[in-house]
Amino acid sequence: MKLYGLIGFPLTHSFSQKYFSEKFSELNLKDHQYRNFPLTDISELNDLIINQKELSGLNVTIPYKEQALPLMNELSEEAGAIGAVNTIVISRNKDKVSLKGHNTDYYGFMQSIKPYLENIHHRALILGTGGASKAVEYFFKNTGIDYLKVSRDREKGDITYNELNEALIKSHLLIVNTTPLGMSPSTEEFPPIPYEFLGNQHLVYDLIYNPAETLFLKKAKEKGAVTINGTSMLKLQAERSWKIWNNENNH
Ligand code: NAP
Repeated sequence: MKLYGLIGFPLTHSFSQKYFSEKFSELNLKDHQYRNFPLTDISELNDLIINQKELSGLNVTIPYKEQALPLMNELSEEAGAIGAVNTIVISRNKDKVSLKGHNTDYYGFMQSIKPYLENIHHRALILGTGGASKAVEYFFKNTGIDYLKVSRDREKGDITYNELNEALIKSHLLIVNTTPLGMSPSTEEFPPIPYEFLGNQHLVYDLIYNPAETLFLKKAKEKGAVTINGTSMLKLQAERSWKIWNNENNH
């Protein structure tokens, strides 16, 4: 049996288990299983790997993407540069276990936004400074897009929400929400930005996938902006994890 799974806490919102269980069934992989492993502390990872001897790969979600990093024996170039791990490959050789950490959020974000990027999107605002924002930041760095990190806390970001004004909104035609504001069940929430200055040249991306249209995206769309939700990033990052597990387990 090949076992895969998701670690995080709590795991009530897990997309991955449904996605991979359906995939295994479509591919007729009867000896594959995907399970949720809610860990109350990242220190429980070691016991999980020892006790679940058939575990070959894990996905990592909130709040462990950054905390899992120091527990890896090896990191992919991207995971190391981003500072967050969302996919783990578990290799076993007799009693020796080795963990390699990857970041597929970066790939998912890159592939999902690329088709929408135009020659006017040179400057971006990233809302939020958590784990997912780091993958977005890494993509902007690699692509040569200038960005400002918007945070509630002056220390963590470049600017705070109170400092967002007409000039900043109009000169940053790419805006990415990496905060959980508006995510189900708190669908009445939205990031506090001056929406009145958005226009039809703006590309507005929300990493949230549930609901499909957050208030953030709705407000941006009303001003004529092109909008993208987190669904395609979610599927792309999962597919990438699957590819990594297969490649790395085959040699
Ligand atoms: P996280 O580590 O908890 O970070 C979220 C950041 O948002 C925080 O660091 C914080 O930044 C800001 N924030 C949190 N609560 C806030 C509030 N009440 N008001 C304003 N800002 C707030 O979470 P994450 O792992 O980065 O994930 C963030 C979101 O992205 C989640 O909704 C997650 O589901 C989604 N996501 C989607 C995908 C996908 O494939 N579509 C992948 C990864 C994540 P400051 O303290 O700097 O304000």
